[in-house]
Amino acid sequence: MKTVTRKSATITPLLPTSTAGSLPKPSWLAEPEALWSPWKLDGQALIDGKHDALRVSLHEQQQAGIDIVSDGEQTRQHFVTTFIEHLTGVDFENRKTVKIRDRYDASVPTVVSAVSRPKSVFVEDAKLLRQQTDQPIKWALPGPMTMIDTLYDDHYHSREKLAWEFAKILNQEAKELEAAGVDIIQFDEPAFNVFFDDVNEWGIACLERAIEGLKCETAVHICYGYGIKANTDWKKTLGSEWRQYEQAFPKLQKSNIDIISLECHNSHVPIELLELIRGKKVMVGAIDVATNTIETPEEVANTLREALKYVDADKLYPCTNCGMAPLSRDVARAKLSALSAGAAIIRQELTLTT
Ligand SMILES: [Zn+2]
Repeated sequence: MKTVTRKSATITPLLPTSTAGSLPKPSWLAEPEALWSPWKLDGQALIDGKHDALRVSLHEQQQAGIDIVSDGEQTRQHFVTTFIEHLTGVDFENRKTVKIRDRYDASVPTVVSAVSRPKSVFVEDAKLLRQQTDQPIKWALPGPMTMIDTLYDDHYHSREKLAWEFAKILNQEAKELEAAGVDIIQFDEPAFNVFFDDVNEWGIACLERAIEGLKCETAVHICYGYGIKANTDWKKTLGSEWRQYEQAFPKLQKSNIDIISLECHNSHVPIELLELIRGKKVMVGAIDVATNTIETPEEVANTLREALKYVDADKLYPCTNCGMAPLSRDVARAKLSALSAGAAIIRQELTLTT
């Protein structure tokens, strides 16, 4: 990781911990324990409030001993929608009902003309985070396939064409984030667990277009979603073995993506599927975001121990299964501490055996 060259930068330890993305917002900023929660402030007070929340979120990650920190997505209402709101070509007044990820109906905006990014979306926020810490920082962006899945396309009339346009826009944003000092840029692609043919025909190619020319590390996060009812109901239909990763992993293993972030703890993903991405760095989800039960450090350690059968120790990044925005702050804090404590157990074991 490039951070070792930065002045007074923290040298990344073995098994660096991180989160998949979002963390709960303070209740003075937005309604807690909800997705798409409306802001409670406006104007300059909202801008200041988001920045203060970013600082608090960073502090909480640091208190919990998280090694690769993020903004906790404090400045965005939703991981996909907020990015799209900054683009031209999408009409948020003109809404249509579509089925998101083949799972639940949602009223979504319409693509009415060519999409473009008139100015950067998160770069100022990333600069603020960079100023606050010398630790490695990770920034999440939505992936092209997940973006098209939250829109009605009345212009391109082609999922592939629209995804390709978004990939070009994401690449512009990613290059500016890299210049702002972001160490890892992550693309969230839960849609990779649903549209298998599209993933292999053009989804991974679009992802590689989004990371083209980047020198920082890149990650793709593929999960079974937030712990909301539509997702937990869907999971009940997936049977005793969740083999969705089997579809995208072989091609991802050959791709230019550096890190693959996935869901493990409490999921029904057969751990041996990790063999399919041998050689990649893996952010292993050792924290379940769909329950308020706090993992014990030993439970976290057990998940990491299982993953170590398929991932070399220097490529294992302990992480959460998904974002934690819908959880209470107390629960999220306790889960982050459990993640750190579980990683510490395995670090100790690895030190003793080498
Ligand atoms: Zn996720």
